[in-house]
Amino acid sequence: MPDQIAIVIVAAGRGERAGGPEPKQWQDLGGQSVLARSVGAFAGIGPVTVVLHPDEMLRGVEAFAGRVTLVAGGATRAASVRNALETLEGRGYTRVLIHDGARPLVSPALIGRVMAALDTAPGAAPALSVTDALWTGTEGHVTGTADRTGLYRAQTPQGFHFPAILQAHRGFAGVAADDVEVARAAGLDVAIVEGEEENIKITWPGDFARAARILGLDTMEIRTGQGYDVHAFTEGDHVMLCGVKVPHGRGLLGHSDADVGMHALTDAIYGALAEGDIGRHFPPSDPQWKGAPSEIFLAHAGALAREKGYRLMNADVTLVCERPKIGPHAIAMAAELARILGTGPDRISVKATTSERLGFTGREEGIAALAIATLVRE
Ligand code: MG
Repeated sequence: MPDQIAIVIVAAGRGERAGGPEPKQWQDLGGQSVLARSVGAFAGIGPVTVVLHPDEMLRGVEAFAGRVTLVAGGATRAASVRNALETLEGRGYTRVLIHDGARPLVSPALIGRVMAALDTAPGAAPALSVTDALWTGTEGHVTGTADRTGLYRAQTPQGFHFPAILQAHRGFAGVAADDVEVARAAGLDVAIVEGEEENIKITWPGDFARAARILGLDTMEIRTGQGYDVHAFTEGDHVMLCGVKVPHGRGLLGHSDADVGMHALTDAIYGALAEGDIGRHFPPSDPQWKGAPSEIFLAHAGALAREKGYRLMNADVTLVCERPKIGPHAIAMAAELARILGTGPDRISVKATTSERLGFTGREEGIAALAIATLVRE
C-alpha cells in the first residue's frame, strides 16, 4: 500500500517579533499571506491541517474556506502539533510532514528530500551546517567562543512516521523548539537532509523584504518629494544659503537661520517620506529652534530617510533671487548639503535663477527656493 501523507502547518504563534499591524503569518507577501504561501507549497502532496491560535479560527475559515482542516492550537508549540496529530489519527496516515507556517519559501525539492529520507528512518528533517564562527556575548561584548563542529541550523518540514511521532507527542510534557526535539525525547532516530538558505523563517521585520527578494518580487520603491520656501530680506550683512555664509548687504528674516535653500531641500525629503514638513518636526512655536542652524533640520530628514530604509539618489535645489550672485558659491553649497546628508556631492545640485526683475524676488524683497529629492529603497 502506498504511503498516506498528512501535512501539519503550525501557525498558532502570535508572530509579534516581525512587527507590522497583525501576526506575521497573515501579513502580505507579494499578494498572498505568508501562511497561504506555506500551505500552497504542499499542494498535491497531501491534505493540509493548519493549527491556528484559538482567536484566529474564524479568520482561518475565511482565508482557506474548506481547502484545509483547521485545528486550534494549545499553550505550547508541542501542544499545538499534538492537537493536530490527534485529529489525524485513525485515518490511515502513515507519514506526516510538520511545517512552520512562517516558512513560505520551502521548495518542492526540499520537501522531496525529507519524504525520501523517511524510507530509511522514522524521522527526517532539513538543516544547514553552521559555517559562521559562534560567540557568546553579554551586553554587546564578546565573552567567549563556541565550537561550531557538528552544529546545524534546523528547518522544517520535519517528517515522521505517523504512529511514531503521535506516540512521541503523547509521551512528551514540556516545551520543545520543534518536533525533532519531541521525537528525540522518545528515542526516534532523525535523519538530517540538506536544508536551503532560502527556506527562511519569517521572524523579524526585515525578513519580509528578504523573502520578497528571494521570490523575485520587485520591492524597489522610488519616491520623489518637492519643497518650496521663501524668506524675506531684512537688515543684515550676510545670508545663509545651503549652509554657506554669503556676504550681502541684507540678511534673511526667519525663526531659524533662515536658510531658504536648506529648508526647501529638507521639506523635499520629508515630502518624499510623506512625513509632513519642517514645521511638524521642529515647531516654530518652540523657542529652542530660534536662531538654530538649519543643518539640524536637514540632518534629521536625512536620518529619518535612512531609518525607513531609503537612501537619497539625488536632489536638485534652485534658488530664485537677483542678488547675491549664487554661481560663485554653488559648488560649496552642494558640497555642504552632501556633507550634512552623508552622500556624495555628485548627487546634489544647487543652481540659481533670477526672475527677470519680476515679482517679489525681482524686486529683491526676498529669496525663494525650490527643491526636489529622489529617494530609493531596495
Ligand atoms: Mg523656511
